[in-house]
Amino acid sequence: MSAARVTPPVASQPAHRGTLVIRGGRVVDPSQGIDRVDDVLVRDGRIVAIGGRGEPADETLDAAGLVVAPGLFDMHVHLREPGREEDETIETGTRAALAGGFTSVACIPNTEPPIDTQAAVEFIHQKAARADTCNVFVVGCVSRNREGKELAEIGRLVEAGAVAFSDDGAPVYDAELMRRAFEYCRMFDRPILAHEEVLELSRGGVMHEGLVSLTLGLAGMPAAAEEVMIGRDVALAETTGGRLHVMHVSTAGGVDLIRTAKARGIRVTAEACPHHFTLTDESLRGFDANAKMSPPLRTAADVEGIIAGIVDGTIDCIATDHAPHAPEKKMLELDRAPFGILGLETAVGLTVTRLVATGRIGWPRMIESMSTLPARILGVDRGTLRPGAVADITVIDPNLSWRVDAASFRSKSVNTPFDGWSLQGRAVATIVGGRVKYRLGGR
Ligand SMILES: [Zn+2]
Ligand SMILES: [Zn+2]
Repeated sequence: MSAARVTPPVASQPAHRGTLVIRGGRVVDPSQGIDRVDDVLVRDGRIVAIGGRGEPADETLDAAGLVVAPGLFDMHVHLREPGREEDETIETGTRAALAGGFTSVACIPNTEPPIDTQAAVEFIHQKAARADTCNVFVVGCVSRNREGKELAEIGRLVEAGAVAFSDDGAPVYDAELMRRAFEYCRMFDRPILAHEEVLELSRGGVMHEGLVSLTLGLAGMPAAAEEVMIGRDVALAETTGGRLHVMHVSTAGGVDLIRTAKARGIRVTAEACPHHFTLTDESLRGFDANAKMSPPLRTAADVEGIIAGIVDGTIDCIATDHAPHAPEKKMLELDRAPFGILGLETAVGLTVTRLVATGRIGWPRMIESMSTLPARILGVDRGTLRPGAVADITVIDPNLSWRVDAASFRSKSVNTPFDGWSLQGRAVATIVGGRVKYRLGGR
């Protein structure tokens, strides 16, 4: 992928002065094919070198027994601001990101109003700079006001710094509009992040359509609702030469469609969410609204298909679809509660526990899927520890066992199905631009 590299949106912040040495960690940097125990030297907010000469530093972080990786990057986060500050704000959402080990997030534009103007993009950049937490890259709307009728001003949004385009929360329904969106985005080499759903097939549904929905007497959303739309968008990406990024793939059939499209050379990438490779529709048996999301939790065979897709690289990235909803909304009965769950503060633990500790993937593949590839897909100059790069670094304790406690989350919301779960693996330090922005145990 040869996307134009983007100027960091928070460049207005002064560079952090001084030296930092992260000593003796297992340095995993897939962008350079590095996986070895070594030191990482940082000066004035940039990576200087991997490989220590025992130099003295202003600040030293002992990383013996820890994984030292390029900063994790979540390319699918709903920060809710502007418009739904009761659920999350840019400040609380980015604090949750830091606590989860993320140095960068891409925020999805289904805010109120949606991010479909230059002024709206600038608003996010300013708020993010003021929060002074992690990097926030902005995704702009495909269609004006997310109405799916006319294209947003894609060129002007790119000028303002939008790194990709999406009407997520909903699919881009009009195939002709989607075709033109691909053509426009192609001129700027920007991907379209697509929520794939045929609404006629999923209407009224609260969970996956299958045996469990039948048993519970709940309306279902069939796998075909997602797969038909993936098929349409793959065809449109092929016709136009545009770049399709399939968000939150949840079905084994969807993974197969993407695998075939990639084999044919179509420009398609994809992400999967930790909940889709961890839970199945069995979780709905308790009628818990924290198991309600779109696309829904599917079957054990789908979970296996997604994991196979992550293992073989069909699924490029792990992204969270962090979707905060204030408690009073999520406590409604299942058919009235909104779709979506939190993701930022449990993603590392779930990924290590489900995929790394079980031997399904190694650390290099995990870091590639959570740092290197999201940055590359968005054409952003992150996800690497190359000398000269901005020193965004995540330090992970691969063996730390911990209990999820939603009440202690940095996020403003608590809607997670994983509260009380025991997980392995957690970020213990999150470093943005050479500054330690989060240490586990230190508030
Ligand atoms: Zn979505
Ligand atoms: Zn989403």
